Amino acid sequence: MDTFRIHTLGCGSARPTPRHQPSCTVVNFRDNLFMIDCGEGAQRAFQQARLKFPRLGHIFLTHLHGDHVLGLPGLLSTLALGGAGGRLTVHTFEEGERIMRQILDFFAKDLSYDLEFHIIKPEDAIVLDTPSLTVRTVKLHHRVPAVGYIFEEKPKQRHIRRDMIDFHRVPVALIRDIKAGADFVKPDGTVVPNAALTSDADPARSYAHISDTIYMPSLAEKIGPVDLLFHETTYLDEHAAEAKARFHSTARQAAMVARDAGAGALLTGHYSSRYKDESRFVTEAQEVFANTLLNREGLITDVGRLRQ
Ligand SMILES: [Zn+2]
Repeated sequence: MDTFRIHTLGCGSARPTPRHQPSCTVVNFRDNLFMIDCGEGAQRAFQQARLKFPRLGHIFLTHLHGDHVLGLPGLLSTLALGGAGGRLTVHTFEEGERIMRQILDFFAKDLSYDLEFHIIKPEDAIVLDTPSLTVRTVKLHHRVPAVGYIFEEKPKQRHIRRDMIDFHRVPVALIRDIKAGADFVKPDGTVVPNAALTSDADPARSYAHISDTIYMPSLAEKIGPVDLLFHETTYLDEHAAEAKARFHSTARQAAMVARDAGAGALLTGHYSSRYKDESRFVTEAQEVFANTLLNREGLITDVGRLRQ
């Protein structure tokens, strides 16, 4: 199956600790890299994960808090050093472009590549549409405007059964239609149904990235049955009141969203620095949603092989 995997580069939250890197995730979709948030140190973590800068085409920011964006000026300046050219698109709110342009005007005046800002709004919308992938935002509820991102692979074509194609002497020119679901009509008028010529397509896979937000029961329906859901678990349930006051979620609440959405698996993260044992997030979440995975820096998660 084509590559669709999630690299966790940072799953800490606002306060730096020796244990965690601030927020940064990279989606590898068919060897195209999409970064979500770019906390301090992201460019170093990116290299440690052996990811390649020329493959990075898009950076999506969830919101303009320092632990999600302060790695961006450094990364954008570094990319100018190689002189490699290419194009990079940063998806962010209007203020995000204004702030970044100011910094770059001073520190990295002459970029050797095309830097483009795509202005998004705190709403539900499609922000990227390619022949094989759609990325859409969902509005979140945090202390500042915030969105989550959902990556959805487009439906794939059916697999050709080579032996049957040969047996029925299907002309090469018709293979495209057959892959798309067409029947084959022989010269004598006999119809060979598509099901006899093809097997089912691989299922289209999906990933949702939800950070940062207060618990939103309505999110489940908007996200739907994604294969993998990252949902922030900043706090444990014992600090639910603080989570609410700070517009964050607990592990239990993230699990409720995963369960109600019908997600295949839940990935934890955005851990508050007060907790020293991250396994507690998983234990708490698993009481509600069994297929919860413990996130950590360096973790690689394959989307679509996770349903139990
Ligand atoms: Zn944060």
